[in-house]
Amino acid sequence: MFGLGIGIVLGLAARALMAIGPGWESSIRWFNREALEPFGQVFLRMLFFVVVPLVFSSLALGVVQLRRLDRLGPLAGRTFAMFGLNMAVGVGLGLLMMNVLSPGTRIEPETRDQLLGQYSGAIETIATRAAEQESLSFRKLVEMFMPRNLVKSVVEFQLLPLILFALLVGAAGTRLAEEHREGMAAVLQVVMEVMTEIVHYALKLAPYGVAALVGSVVIVAGAEVLRPLLWFVVGVTGVLALHLFGSMSLFLKLFSRRSPRVFFRAVRSVLITAFSTSSSSATLPTSIQVSQEVLKVSPSTAGFVLPLGATMNMSGTALYEGCVVLFVAQVYGVELSIGSQLTLLVLAVLSAVAVAGIPGASLPVLVGLLASFNLPAEGIALILGFDRLLDMGRTAVNVGADLVTACVVDERMGDGGERSDSESAV
Ligand code: ASP
Repeated sequence: MFGLGIGIVLGLAARALMAIGPGWESSIRWFNREALEPFGQVFLRMLFFVVVPLVFSSLALGVVQLRRLDRLGPLAGRTFAMFGLNMAVGVGLGLLMMNVLSPGTRIEPETRDQLLGQYSGAIETIATRAAEQESLSFRKLVEMFMPRNLVKSVVEFQLLPLILFALLVGAAGTRLAEEHREGMAAVLQVVMEVMTEIVHYALKLAPYGVAALVGSVVIVAGAEVLRPLLWFVVGVTGVLALHLFGSMSLFLKLFSRRSPRVFFRAVRSVLITAFSTSSSSATLPTSIQVSQEVLKVSPSTAGFVLPLGATMNMSGTALYEGCVVLFVAQVYGVELSIGSQLTLLVLAVLSAVAVAGIPGASLPVLVGLLASFNLPAEGIALILGFDRLLDMGRTAVNVGADLVTACVVDERMGDGGERSDSESAV
């Protein structure tokens, strides 16, 4: 948190200096590009280093520790039910806010045209990426989960095939003779522990890394892009916070015996990592470490829920997508009926599942969503200037929802893991 504060103050001070004169502006931009940003990347990439081995070992271990394959059904069922509920409630709250505040109708047509002109280059790149994404079909699903070359997909950091492979390895492991099964679990456990140790190194760097990443975002984004869209930004930020601290506290109260206050205190470092990196995948190592060491979630639940959540459970992203579509509709004066908004709710949830856990990943998906409602794809330009800032908030919500799911599912699975009752005190 200290790093976060320093980063914001640093960024704002740099912006103030940049306003004084062009000499300051070029040196600060140089310093940002050559020093601040790369330094932030050291923290981020150290986390990225461990993602692949950690996803594989934690998922395979999670399944093999279930001992019996018939336990996988209830674990998966509860996990996906919580993912779906969390995302649907998120989008519902977002749409409600957009209907009440109606920030899109507060934009003057001149401001709209100015924003559209400013980002025309960036829109082309996003539209090309969007065009490459086919709509969801059975064939596409098979390609997504089972590409011809697993190693190539891992190299390209596509985690879904790795997740399926790890599940298969874990499932096959449960069929081994007891002695071999234990050997396999021990090897996976060691890999996980080593990776977790590297996460500890990264977390030592976190305060400085967070300051550098956040400072750099403030320097690049600045506050002036916010002015015409203040209502939208304030509304989305407010509803993201409401969902994170309100709905998720409610889920914890309804479905578990954990105290939301204790929970949020325990997951502070995870939320700050998500906020500063804007990447669920980069935050995964920290969330696995905290859920096991601080929240005392059983390894089998954490190992199963969190890697899946980091790639599929995008509660903040779904909420944001719903808001952006409605915002663009409002700016262009298109009325979306209640029926269309319900369709939007479903589509926002489904498309958020396909969003990767990396910064800005929702943008191409958003272009596709806008097209499904016959809204102009270049409407995305309206939000591009501050997407990075809102990305930070929605990623924190995405990761918060994964942790809540892990806690709820773990409690529902009862003796599902390797944990003793005295350990589940938090
Ligand atoms: N940055 C988000 C995440 O990693 C995805 C997005 O909404 O762009 O969770």
